[in-house]
Amino acid sequence: MGFPTGISGADLVWRGEVQAMKFGTRFVMPRRIESLDQLDNGAFCATFANGRRVLAASVVVATGVQYRRLPIARLAEFEGTGIYYAATENEARFCRDTEVLVIGGGNSAGQAAMFLSRTARHVRLLVRGDTLASSMSSYLSSRLEADPAITIEYGTHAVGLHGGDNLEAVTIRNEDGDRTVASCAVFVMVGAAPNTGWLAELVALDDKGFVLTGEEAGALSPFATSCAGIYAVGDVRAGSVKRVASSVGEGSVVISNVWEHVRGLGRA
Ligand SMILES: Cc1cc2nc3c(=O)[nH]c(=O)nc-3n(C[C@H](O)[C@H](O)[C@H](O)COP(=O)(O)OP(=O)(O)OC[C@H]3O[C@@H](n4cnc5c(N)ncnc54)[C@H](O)[C@@H]3O)c2cc1C
Repeated sequence: MGFPTGISGADLVWRGEVQAMKFGTRFVMPRRIESLDQLDNGAFCATFANGRRVLAASVVVATGVQYRRLPIARLAEFEGTGIYYAATENEARFCRDTEVLVIGGGNSAGQAAMFLSRTARHVRLLVRGDTLASSMSSYLSSRLEADPAITIEYGTHAVGLHGGDNLEAVTIRNEDGDRTVASCAVFVMVGAAPNTGWLAELVALDDKGFVLTGEEAGALSPFATSCAGIYAVGDVRAGSVKRVASSVGEGSVVISNVWEHVRGLGRA
């Protein structure tokens, strides 16, 4: 909404950052929170990867999801030079007139294959199972099957990556054995995980690691977690719709809850 010709993620985030700075927000980056503890006085202590700590009366968790990787040798080496986790205009441009592989059997893999088939010479979709019926919408799998620029290979997975500075070929395996196909781009679309292990001691998570909020967490407000003073918004929240606008909306709504909590501490 509001960007009729689209906007890159980096551009959108930069504009948001400048706007937030105008309101006095302080940014600490790039820093990863490794653990969160609650002190005896109820305050929270977040520890960064570099050992620095920050004290807070309340915490809003908005750490999103991180895309799953695959256990293939040299995967990390080719990330950004042949291994991708998103299919945007940038990657499509890079793949023009080449052979690309998409790994995964869900809707995101299907959408990526459709999108890339417009520019790539050929798209090979590697699916671990022997059908897409239970993992992909039928309208999408029908379109993939009908597209001559796309080949779906069932019961197949990637086992080796080859190349120098850039990816050049991939060894794939199925019940007939291994074969190596030339490819300069592999899109890994095998789902995402919230990586909330660092929060697990303090707040209730669902079986996939997403943070439970509202009624499911026994809390009154929709973004409150099972631990008073900790809130969760956006993709990291169990049941969220995984959209920019809803994440931003949840982030703005939750702040009144945060103030209520902080004012309540003042009265205690
Ligand atoms: C390829 C792609 C295309 C998409 N297209 C659209 C679209 O067109 N429209 C739409 O509405 N939505 C789209 N989405 C979904 C949208 O990007 C997400 O719903 C939205 O970004 C979620 O916002 P968030 O703030 O919850 O999480 P994110 O935007 O994922 O932000 C989480 C941030 O937290 C940081 N973080 C994670 N762990 C830690 C930690 N331990 N310590 C410190 N920082 C941490 C991460 O580095 C990241 O910067 C798309 C997603 C993808 C992957």
